[in-house]
This record gives sequence, C-alpha cells and structure tokens, in this order.
Amino acid sequence: MWTTLQSTLKKWAVTIFVGAVGFLLAAVLREVGTAIVPAIEKSVSARVLLILLCLSVLLNLAGASFAIYAIRKTKLRLRFGVYWDKDCHPHCPLCQSPLSYFRESRNARVELQCKKCRKGFDLSEVDGKWISVESAIERL
Ligand SMILES: [Zn+2]
Repeated sequence: MWTTLQSTLKKWAVTIFVGAVGFLLAAVLREVGTAIVPAIEKSVSARVLLILLCLSVLLNLAGASFAIYAIRKTKLRLRFGVYWDKDCHPHCPLCQSPLSYFRESRNARVELQCKKCRKGFDLSEVDGKWISVESAIERL
C-alpha cells in the first residue's frame, strides 16, 4: 500500500516537473523567438525551414515512441502476492527489485527472496492458498 502510494506520488511529481519545465521553456522561447524569428526568416529559405520542420516532427515522434515503449516495458503487475514483469520474472512487492529463488530445506518449497529487503515471499492465490512458482508462471 505504502509503496504503491510512493510510486504514484513519484509519477505525479515527475509529471508536474516535466510540465513546469516545458511551460518555462515555452515562455522563454516565446520571448526569444519574437526577436530571432524575423532574422531567421531573412537568412534561411522556406524550403530549408520545411525540411527542418519535418525532421523535428520525425525526431519528436521517435522520442515519443521510445518513451511509450520504455514505460510499457518496465510496467509490473501484481499477481500471487508479488510483482511480475512481461518476461515472467518476479519482483519484490515492497521495493520492486528482482527476486531470486531459494529452496527451503524443511518443506522443499521454493521461496522467492529479495536481496535488497532481505525478506522471503511465498506465492499465494487470492484465498491465501500456497501456489508453486512454476504454477504461477504458467497462469500469468
Ligand atoms: Zn525488496
């Protein structure tokens, strides 16, 4: 619960920061642009400006595509008490670090451990019933 709230707050803080920087840049460019644009229009032909505009649009589309890909790639979803990435690798429910497998010698169950938090996690269904790692991966 707390980590989810922290994650949500971080995303909102990043969004607000990027928006504020974008607004500030737009305000500065507006002020500077009114002085520079007439000089650029005199010295550069319309054809070169059109090529630069097309190149700028293509670079922006490539950047937006990369950002969307990066966001989707790192998205984790919660199942069986831990987070899972798209490649079916388990991640810690507390810090979202990758978990490693550890076989407990007493009952031979495979447990997932977080090296960062130093905590172990069993996988369980919604009703609390234990589920093996292999079964969980098959059902993801
Ligand atoms: Zn952890």
